[in-house]
Amino acid sequence: MPGKTNLKSLSKEGTHLFFRDLGLPRYRADQLLHWIYQKFAEDLGDITEFSKDLRETLSRVAYISSLKTAKRLSSADGTGKFLFSLEDGNTIESVLIPDEDRLTLCISSQVGCAMGCRFCLTGRLGLIRNLRAFEIVDQVISVNKMLHPAKRVTNIVFMGMGEPLANLEEVVDALWRITGFIGISKRKITLSTAGLVPAMLLLPQKAPEVNLAVSLNATTDATRDELMPVNRTYKLRSLLEACRRYPLSPRRMITFEYVLIDGKNSSAADARRLVQLLRGLRCKVNLIPLNPHAGSDLKRPSDSAVLEFQKILLQHDLTALIRESKGSDILAACGQLKAEY
Ligand code: SAH
Ligand code: SF4
Repeated sequence: MPGKTNLKSLSKEGTHLFFRDLGLPRYRADQLLHWIYQKFAEDLGDITEFSKDLRETLSRVAYISSLKTAKRLSSADGTGKFLFSLEDGNTIESVLIPDEDRLTLCISSQVGCAMGCRFCLTGRLGLIRNLRAFEIVDQVISVNKMLHPAKRVTNIVFMGMGEPLANLEEVVDALWRITGFIGISKRKITLSTAGLVPAMLLLPQKAPEVNLAVSLNATTDATRDELMPVNRTYKLRSLLEACRRYPLSPRRMITFEYVLIDGKNSSAADARRLVQLLRGLRCKVNLIPLNPHAGSDLKRPSDSAVLEFQKILLQHDLTALIRESKGSDILAACGQLKAEY
């Protein structure tokens, strides 16, 4: 809506100022925030607590944007995938993963991704654009609205489309809103990065206490250079150095994701090198057998190779879980998100 202010794009202070400039009291701004984040208002008309006059005053200069749910798919294993369209017509995906008493939402931080990892479908798209903070948060609001009143999202992982640390300012802004307005604590939020070292070093100051996951995926620079072009700029040594410097509160650890690819990074020698690389780091390893997709010749290793890899890590006292990606029947699994492109 040209010329009008999207109230969802404003910070808390921004909302207060906007209301002040209209001569409206501060508590009205707080009511608005409550209606947006807790009562899922998608239109000024939804806010029944506001008088008709007030709604009209606001709607002359402002509106509330919302994601359109273009598609909703459910997988046999309980995973749900949402395709959302943005105001400019671009689309993004979020994945809801139920697990015991948790409901984890895997959210997108960019439309596409510039990192170009060879095994990842999102990487194929290239970067179309960064998401704004409100578009990141809107994924959580929209899913909470769909789950209401029975359930709510309890955990957030930035493992959908995009590289969150390549869109750090908006991601950090989104984190403040998710914690402050939606009420999910930072300890239940995980940022996953392909290894943008300079941004990783800024994280403790910009987003203290969020959990960090690092997509490692190789144990030599040669292999990582081939699989993940970001490694040509930030080598394994500097990546692991940044991990060692990452401040961890007690009982917290860094998660290393390791996509197992046949003939590339899944040999016994790789497992042993991984043990060496991670020595001294408080961490756990999630082993993700590759989800193959059309257009890539990479293959997942045999089940026995996956188990053998895990066994070597366990024998050396590393915590290592095999993560069968959920939702692969609806292309909701890791690396399978490409929205409608
Ligand atoms: N850009 C961030 C977060 C999104 S990718 C990052 O790379 O960490 C989320 C995870 O999916 C990453 O750990 C990535 O290694 C994994 N992944 C990507 N493509 C995959 C595929 N085809 N099969 C299995 N996992 C994949
Ligand atoms: Fe981007 Fe992550 Fe996919 Fe790499 S794995 S292309 S960083 S989304």
